[in-house]
Amino acid sequence: MNRFSILQDKKQCYVCGSSIIHTHEVYYGKNRKKSIEDGCCVYLCPRHHNMSNDGIHFNKDLDLKVKKEMEKRWLEYYNKTIDDFIKRYGKNYI
Ligand SMILES: [Zn+2]
Ligand SMILES: [Zn+2]
Repeated sequence: MNRFSILQDKKQCYVCGSSIIHTHEVYYGKNRKKSIEDGCCVYLCPRHHNMSNDGIHFNKDLDLKVKKEMEKRWLEYYNKTIDDFIKRYGKNYI
């Protein structure tokens, strides 16, 4: 399935704007497939993805920040409630 982002139009790193990008599933682990279905993906450069300690897979603050921003966008984009989000992803981040 083609991965897309409901949070970003341009394929640029969400953190620094670099155009060399990976696609990251915001709710990874057991929610990875749902992230892909819902477009809960962000574009990140290798450094801000998983190639350095600044990367979202290692930087908990960045991970949580993007999870929050994506949840807010998901609620708006799909016109859903926080309860709907919890049902789908198991947790509320905002
Ligand atoms: Zn970056
Ligand atoms: Zn990732």
